[in-house]
Amino acid sequence: MRIVFLAIAAALLSACASVETPMAKPEWTLLIHGGAGVMRRAEMTPGMDAAYRAGLNDALEAGSKVLAGGGLAVDAVEAAVRVLEDNPSFNAGKGAVLTREGVAELDASIMDGRDRNAGAVAQVRTVKNPIRAARLVMETTGRVMFAGKEVDAMAAKAGLEIVPPEYFITPRRLDALKRAIAGDWQPMDRHGTVGAVAMDKAGNLAAATSTGGMNAKPPGRVGDSPIIGAGTYADNASCAVSATGDGEHFIRASVARMICARVQMQGMSAEQAASATLDEVAALGGTGGVIVLSHDGSAALRMNTEGMFRGRADATGFRRMGIYADE
Ligand code: ASP
Repeated sequence: MRIVFLAIAAALLSACASVETPMAKPEWTLLIHGGAGVMRRAEMTPGMDAAYRAGLNDALEAGSKVLAGGGLAVDAVEAAVRVLEDNPSFNAGKGAVLTREGVAELDASIMDGRDRNAGAVAQVRTVKNPIRAARLVMETTGRVMFAGKEVDAMAAKAGLEIVPPEYFITPRRLDALKRAIAGDWQPMDRHGTVGAVAMDKAGNLAAATSTGGMNAKPPGRVGDSPIIGAGTYADNASCAVSATGDGEHFIRASVARMICARVQMQGMSAEQAASATLDEVAALGGTGGVIVLSHDGSAALRMNTEGMFRGRADATGFRRMGIYADE
């Protein structure tokens, strides 16, 4: 009897532990997102659903390849984000939302948890993959953030792929802009963002985020995505975070840094820290989501919206994509 009881208790304990902190940390883990609060079940056709999941799967594939091959977390997050930037379904790179004046102004950032080195760019107009420009800033300038036409010039000089501004514009985003200007705001038109966090085989963390921002934003407006500590953060001693949502609220709540501070100073799990910090965002009136990977291997893909395009893959062969909050 006693043995049966102990066996049941052990099974229950291991089941609880597997939700937040896997019993054994996978050799590597990758989490991605493609924006929160931008989908409604009722408006999603089976074709759209399948296209989004395929896009997420492609990004997981690109990042997983790097990690499985023993590559660095920072290379994996860049690879995953590049795939999402190239996919016109997501609000980053090609297919980004447009400013009130019909231009794509792109923001991105990347952070390496090994040394907390970071790079960020804002208001990019011609760099095909803004996340590559963020990495360029991180690795070659000794600075953290550049904005405006200097980023395009710096990227061109460094040999990054440059495209005409029209490359980013898709009919779907032009329609969304027209609707917004006419006062018709649809959730699926409003915003979005893409991001990735990873832990590599050596236990290093990294985070990357890229976005077109908010539909019909005033020219020059910059949200949380390129702000280190708001939309992106990574530190091997605490966690890696990429955020998506109402940028102004995420900046005011210092979301990414706050989550990692809770992990580091209060010993919270990724899930606990994400949820406490999203509660703060909600108290300010903001909505959105975060992906979090803690140094202890615990992970969270959390949102206070109806859904978030998201995915997770790890070294155990686990790979899963999600769209709605309840799946
Ligand atoms: N956070 C982004 C911004 O405010 C938008 C989003 O993630 O939906 O620019």
